[in-house]
Amino acid sequence: MLQKYGFLLKNVLPEVFRFIYNTDGLPVAKSTGSQVWPIQCKFFDAPMSNWSPFVLGIFHANSKPKNANDYLEDFVKELVELQQTGFFHNGKVIKIVVFGFSCDAPANALIKFIKNHTGYESCPKCEVHGKYAGRVVFL
Ligand SMILES: [Zn+2]
Repeated sequence: MLQKYGFLLKNVLPEVFRFIYNTDGLPVAKSTGSQVWPIQCKFFDAPMSNWSPFVLGIFHANSKPKNANDYLEDFVKELVELQQTGFFHNGKVIKIVVFGFSCDAPANALIKFIKNHTGYESCPKCEVHGKYAGRVVFL
């Protein structure tokens, strides 16, 4: 990204890159369970925040991953290392910071190892038990 769009920074590199990450399942075909789970990344801060998200990796399986570690483990290892050592570019060390993850409810449940958003105990912040009223609601 820096090689492609770095000229837009006018030779002034930020000292910190804060990123927002995303992952979500995308079906490959309706007739099979084949699906891909891309891990994407986007700069949080201006001026790079206008840049398009970019793909860090793509996981493919014939069903939804049962365990997010199946496909996030390598990503997390590399991210931890980058947070510790920084990113070297043009002789300068740039600090890498995770600003957050932005995922839809099913992907959020998968990566946090919590109940899916349709579950009776799906609130990630309390222990309320939902009731069924055409759908699960929390009164
Ligand atoms: Zn709650």
